Amino acid sequence: MANVTIIGGGVAGMAAAGVLTKRGHEVTLMERDSKLGGHVGKWYKVFPDITDASEIVDELKGDLNGVKIKTNADVKEIEKSGKKFKVNGTSADAVLIAAGFEPFDATLKEEYGYGIYDNVVTSLELDEMLKTGKLKTKDGKTPKSVGLVHCVGSRDEKVNNNYCSRVCCTNVIKSGIEIKEHYPGTDVFCFYMDVRAYGRGYEELYRKSQEECGVTFIRSRLSEANENADKTLLLRVEDTLAGKPMKINVDLLVLMVGMCPSVNAGSLKNSIGLETGDDRFFKTKNKHSANNESNIPGVFYAGATTGPKSIVESITDGRAAAAEIHSYLS
Ligand code: SF4
Repeated sequence: MANVTIIGGGVAGMAAAGVLTKRGHEVTLMERDSKLGGHVGKWYKVFPDITDASEIVDELKGDLNGVKIKTNADVKEIEKSGKKFKVNGTSADAVLIAAGFEPFDATLKEEYGYGIYDNVVTSLELDEMLKTGKLKTKDGKTPKSVGLVHCVGSRDEKVNNNYCSRVCCTNVIKSGIEIKEHYPGTDVFCFYMDVRAYGRGYEELYRKSQEECGVTFIRSRLSEANENADKTLLLRVEDTLAGKPMKINVDLLVLMVGMCPSVNAGSLKNSIGLETGDDRFFKTKNKHSANNESNIPGVFYAGATTGPKSIVESITDGRAAAAEIHSYLS
């Protein structure tokens, strides 16, 4: 029986742990938070079927019988000695890094006013508002209009993130539907460069948002947001279809923040000589045939630690990594 340590108790790490324990390995799952689930564990509804995120986490937890779970276990380094590893004092024959991602820090886009204006929030805060049934502006009123901004912190040279975060377009679509279903009197405007809704059922959701729910999509680039005297936001937008600048007022502005590498990616990398790409996510040995392997034999990757992924992709990637680890240990 081999020992496997998994760094990260989000959906990818849990999915891998479930498979590896069933294959007879001694699995230790380390999660820096006080509970398992990662980001998904904090979210409300997820696309494409608008399911409760908690159902996904509960299902994955159901496969963890026999897994040694260590919460509040922040892992910053991996030690290597011969073919063995040590992670926070635990010995392992193989290590899986499933450290996930960090949401982009919206204060870095100062021109959008996050942290400056009362009614500018992130997609994470919107999710929390929808979860608690309190879609409100700072003064406690239901907004009559909401602006959702795509690509905040993604596809943006100014913040050194040229990659697409891959899921935020569909998150915008899902959020627009939720707002319109719960607050039919609220206008929803989405400011997008192009819509990347590529997964199964995503295009249908995009159509539904417009045809059934009345969400408005404006192909544009938001240049800046300014607060009006009444705390609404004046948005200066370049309409890229009409080729004209436009101004629009909204009561609440939501920045759909992208995914950035985990805060511990840098120290994990340096501790053992792992490689990262230009995007600062971990680099896999081969993007096609060895997409869960690192440059160090015995260290594997799963989930958004190697780049933005949807929930289903992260779960599938976790299970693929588990198969690779099982094969390595055999
Ligand atoms: S998924 Fe959409 S919103 Fe997210 S970075 Fe890509 S294009 Fe932008």
